[in-house]
Amino acid sequence: MESHLEHRDRVGVQDAVLLEDYTNEKAFIENLQKRFNEDVIYTYIGPVLISVNPYKELNIYSPQDVKGYENKHFFEVPPHVFAITDTAYRSLHEEHREQCILISGESGSGKTEASKKVLQYIAEVTERKGEIETIRDKLLVSNPVLEAFGNAKTNRNDNSSRFGKFMDIQFNFEGSPVGGNILNYLLEKSRVISQSPGERNFHIFYQLLDGGTDEQLNKLNLKKDFNSYYYLSHGDKAHNFKREDKKNFREVESALSTLEFTPQEQDDIFFIISAILHLGNVGFTEAENKAVIVKPELVDNIANLLNCDREKLRLSLTQRTIETIRDVVTTPLDRELAVYARDALAKAVYDRLFTWLVKRINSSLQPSDARRNSVIGILDIYGFEIFEKNSFEQLCINFCNEKLQQLFIELTLRSEQEEYEKEGIQWEMIPYFDNKIICDLIEEKHKGLIAFMDEECLRPGDPNDITLLAKLDKNLSYHEHYISHKKADFRLQKVMGRDEFRLIHYAGVVTYNIKSFIEKNNDLLFRDLREAMCSSTNTVLQSIFLESEQRSKKRPDTAITQFKNSLNNLMNILKDKEPSYIRCIKPNDTKSPGIFDEEIVRHQIKYLGLMENLRVRRAGFAYRRTYELFLKRYKSLAPETWPHFPGNAKDGVQHLVCALGYEAKEYQMGRTKIFIRHPQTLFRTEDAFQLK
Ligand code: ATP
Ligand code: MG
Repeated sequence: MESHLEHRDRVGVQDAVLLEDYTNEKAFIENLQKRFNEDVIYTYIGPVLISVNPYKELNIYSPQDVKGYENKHFFEVPPHVFAITDTAYRSLHEEHREQCILISGESGSGKTEASKKVLQYIAEVTERKGEIETIRDKLLVSNPVLEAFGNAKTNRNDNSSRFGKFMDIQFNFEGSPVGGNILNYLLEKSRVISQSPGERNFHIFYQLLDGGTDEQLNKLNLKKDFNSYYYLSHGDKAHNFKREDKKNFREVESALSTLEFTPQEQDDIFFIISAILHLGNVGFTEAENKAVIVKPELVDNIANLLNCDREKLRLSLTQRTIETIRDVVTTPLDRELAVYARDALAKAVYDRLFTWLVKRINSSLQPSDARRNSVIGILDIYGFEIFEKNSFEQLCINFCNEKLQQLFIELTLRSEQEEYEKEGIQWEMIPYFDNKIICDLIEEKHKGLIAFMDEECLRPGDPNDITLLAKLDKNLSYHEHYISHKKADFRLQKVMGRDEFRLIHYAGVVTYNIKSFIEKNNDLLFRDLREAMCSSTNTVLQSIFLESEQRSKKRPDTAITQFKNSLNNLMNILKDKEPSYIRCIKPNDTKSPGIFDEEIVRHQIKYLGLMENLRVRRAGFAYRRTYELFLKRYKSLAPETWPHFPGNAKDGVQHLVCALGYEAKEYQMGRTKIFIRHPQTLFRTEDAFQLK
């Protein structure tokens, strides 16, 4: 039989704090690789779960596996997403502490899959009866709907989430799920109008074309041919339809019914989807600098689908009305602006449709009695991004990751400190890099990057990307985390363009290109287009356009300010919850099983801050366990404690460690737990136990 040592040699250690040299990145990666090669994808750093995407089905998520983790102590069972979930669930139910599970990692690393396993676990260990069963089913089917409308094939991931998601599950006093709520963040709406080579538009377009019945498609005036639609014809031409599209469409339709969308609402959703496809086909020519619609009947068709005012829609695509203090001026659009308006409309309609869907799902998930419920929240949100070209979207995403890192520092260091205090253990504050300085650089009132961006966007005159960059350079160059292209940058030899600026993020240096920042941040839809949409009798369109029209006559917040506000709102929600972390890693860039590319993994370990995490965890005590559990496992190692120690567990453990010859500097006795400084001490004990 394989010995304990041999096993450790082959499969590595299940908690990286047990590595001998915790500062050694290579050893850390090797440990992950060893485990990966044995199909063991989960490893801990203390309470943090690391998950390496296996890119193949592993037989570790069956109902029996769920049973294996139910009501087990975290450390008695191998690392698993079920162990994290069970711990969170029990802490919620037994100690009444609200929970959040924060999942991070780059595109394709397995965040969304992990979030589904969390949900699966909860669904399986909780009761199945009556109302609870209904809510359980609704929670489960909300995923296929969100994925159909919010996910797409990208070059990194065939099922990439193009939005951020925070889903909370509400539990009643007995610990049964009784409701839920979803918050969505920043949908990548530009995908509606164009996709990179090899990528696709959002799944739903293909699902509808491939899965819709003839009758359905007739009603929507659609052909089963993606090549007929301009918005579908940029990206992946060879594999535009995928095998699952048809099947997934059935699933979406049935999910919408389970979520109690009315037949009218379901129809209206697909009228909108169809209208967007047709809108992409509207072309323009130009006569005397004025855009002319090539085939007006296409626009009439869209007006029919949306049941909106035909004339209004036609005009809105070729002219623009601006209200000044004195009067209302209408000017014709040239061809380029008309194309811009058309695309802006498609993006706005889709984006708002998505937000409406989430709201509508939420109303179906509302519990009948929300007063005494407690929640587990699951955050599945984009990881840190550094591309060849980084734009406005990357700035938002990386800002989000800075905020999450802040929260991580606050919550884990705080909880570490709190545990030591609670246990009466002496320790020193551990030095670490606090990224608050970067968060401030971005979001500080009146003098952060966002403030200057908004100021420029709202400035009268002719604000453009170049004037914006000049403003940023002028006001932020003093900051050690901001680098202007004018500043010689010896540290980072890569030359910068004149239209770029650089931020030194906690996870690395990112060069942003200023192009389209103003436009993306302004995110305005011409008033004529809004009014055309408001004339529609489509119930969904009405609620998404009329509502926002009525809400504010004043200018809405800029895109980044809205995002900042929703992030700060999220931070407030997360702040008073007990966090669990799942850090997902993608082992290669080719979506292949069995390949572990060290270099690719190394980057992610850096962006995820895992070595820092390990250092902080180890700076104190590598291992801690309650006296009861420690005694239970090792009582056979001392005559006084075997087979049964008559006194309390703490005294028993004191006898044990004396018998084992622990030196004073190796451990401390807290109120309820023993703290062991180095893993070797524990290994010695564990080896003695195994040899017994
Ligand atoms: P994105 O940020 O692009 O949304 P993601 O981190 O959510 O990426 P997933 O969609 O969860 O990534 O995973 C990508 C793919 O990797 C999945 O479609 C699946 O094929 C595979 N995968 C991820 N996790 C697992 C797992 N635990 N077991 C088997 N396959 C997995
Ligand atoms: Mg995802």
